[in-house]
Amino acid sequence: MRIFDPHIHMTSRTTDDYERMYEAGVRAVVEPAFWLGQPRTSPDTFADYFDGLLGWEPYRAAQFGITHHCTIALNPKEANDPRLRPVLDLLPRYLAKDGVVAVGEVGYDDMTPAEDEVLSLQLGLAAEHDLPVLVHTPHRDKAAGTRRTLDVVRESGLPPERVLVDHLNEVTVAMVAESGCWMGFSVYPDTKMDEERMITILKEHGLERVLVNSAADWGRSDPLKTRKVGDAMLASGFSDADVETVLWDNPVAFYAQSGRLELAEPTAGESFAGNSVRRGVPA
Ligand SMILES: [Zn+2]
Repeated sequence: MRIFDPHIHMTSRTTDDYERMYEAGVRAVVEPAFWLGQPRTSPDTFADYFDGLLGWEPYRAAQFGITHHCTIALNPKEANDPRLRPVLDLLPRYLAKDGVVAVGEVGYDDMTPAEDEVLSLQLGLAAEHDLPVLVHTPHRDKAAGTRRTLDVVRESGLPPERVLVDHLNEVTVAMVAESGCWMGFSVYPDTKMDEERMITILKEHGLERVLVNSAADWGRSDPLKTRKVGDAMLASGFSDADVETVLWDNPVAFYAQSGRLELAEPTAGESFAGNSVRRGVPA
């Protein structure tokens, strides 16, 4: 099984995870820029984080045979901190870089006026830089948040096929299907989607424009959830080709719209900026 995890925060994961992911069939990931748990207090720390998503983390992934791309944005939660507003001025420089395959995660957390402003501004940046967009939907009041998200996307004039609306569930899938945007599902151990609910949605809505991700991060999550959905699909009668459509072809088709997706087997360099993941073991 060949797997592309279109949403996973590898910065928070270990080399054990990379090993297990490779073993499970994961060959490519996209890591969206997001909130790190600890609130940041200065735009400079964002620059270092973005550099890590474009430098150290792809290096680390390549050591384990996995291709790493990222998406760059000011996330919805931290959009509310006025000290971080200058992050928006950093974005054009990063959105021009080769490893960046979308603007994201953007969207709503609490649906504040600040989030409105930062979301519209970043949808504009996506249009300007000719990039697709990864949109996070809020965990509280999900239906209202998703409806509002779709309104703002429509007003932005971005073509819906360039927008991926993520963290969907049974309540929000129909409105996003109707909008023409791509539908993302995050499969977590306890909340949001699980494998069985995902299968039911695939049976009801089909495979078109559907992406499945683990969204694994610093919280309780499982980087092998993509594989577990693939196994559950096979067990419930979907074909190998169906699994390939959902777990590989769809994420490739979505992010290839950036013109920057590079899926050749990664070349594992000796080190990055003088640092290695090898702990002194000779090559
Ligand atoms: Zn995320």
